[in-house]
Amino acid sequence: MKPQSFDYFRAASVEEAISLLVQEGEDSKVLAGGQSLLPMMNFRLARPTALIDVAHIDALRGISMTPSDIRIGSMTRHLELENSTVSGPMGSLLRQSAGRVGHLPIRTRGTIGGSLAHSDPSSEWCMLATLMDAEVSIEGPRGLRKVAAHDFFVTYFTTAMEFDELLIAVEFPQLPGNYRVAVQEFARRAGDFAIVGIMTAFSVDDGVIADPRIAVGGVADRVLRLSEAESALVGKEPTEENFSKAATIAMGEVNPAGDLHGPPEFRRDLVKALTRRALAGASA
Ligand SMILES: Cc1cc2nc3c(=O)[nH]c(=O)nc-3n(C[C@H](O)[C@H](O)[C@H](O)COP(=O)(O)OP(=O)(O)OC[C@H]3O[C@@H](n4cnc5c(N)ncnc54)[C@H](O)[C@@H]3O)c2cc1C
Repeated sequence: MKPQSFDYFRAASVEEAISLLVQEGEDSKVLAGGQSLLPMMNFRLARPTALIDVAHIDALRGISMTPSDIRIGSMTRHLELENSTVSGPMGSLLRQSAGRVGHLPIRTRGTIGGSLAHSDPSSEWCMLATLMDAEVSIEGPRGLRKVAAHDFFVTYFTTAMEFDELLIAVEFPQLPGNYRVAVQEFARRAGDFAIVGIMTAFSVDDGVIADPRIAVGGVADRVLRLSEAESALVGKEPTEENFSKAATIAMGEVNPAGDLHGPPEFRRDLVKALTRRALAGASA
């Protein structure tokens, strides 16, 4: 299939991109890496009348750090994050997440901002943003606003952004060195979207678990935090037994639908197995 015809604009600045979105109206779309948008256009699942290409806006690229935060520009490509040298547990989570996105050619072009704006509930970046309570910066004709991840992702392929807003950056908190982190996924083939994905982060202070976080992708219309399993870990020793108990609770917290991959029980079993594996295998 070929896409419906469209006008193409290459924006040189954030301001120009926003004024083009306003000018071209609700049927226009931002083009970043094109790795989700172009397939959808080819299948005519998306029929934008105009594309606003933001790939050449330098202000949207790169990773910057403060002692408390890591800020990633929306046009930063998956591969740059996979190869990034950010230190500590957060650096490990960034590299593990990026390395699991599709195949190398996709990671070469696709961007973190495109993934977040696309809001696929199996996306690694949506999982990491939800896990870490990341803040998404959005700019439009009404100014700049910051939206917490749990308010940003609305449902399948829908975010809190308006049509005339541009995703500028995402900010993750820095994690101290006593945090352990892990990413676990199950997919039928290497490079496919995960059928279920689990991400976790928790600290171990004086031999007990604090601030446990578990996010799951692929079981609902957006990534979920497994709050009951998290609560069950607070103050517990990081033992196999405690991790198994939390994994069983995690399985009971999800209510996935059946699909061509299998019945709901299949995904629930994956949640249990991957949660246990992520908790037990987590490292700094
Ligand atoms: C075969 C295949 C396998 C894949 N596997 C995975 C996988 O395992 N995990 C995964 O997470 N992804 C996967 N992807 C998707 C890939 O990660 C894309 O790169 C990503 O979803 C979108 O990023 P992009 O930069 O290509 O965005 P685009 O395709 O350019 O845009 C996607 C959407 O976001 C909007 N958008 C983009 N940038 C902005 C912005 N700055 N502001 C506002 N709106 C914006 C666009 O208008 C569009 O609606 C796969 C893709 C393919 C083709």
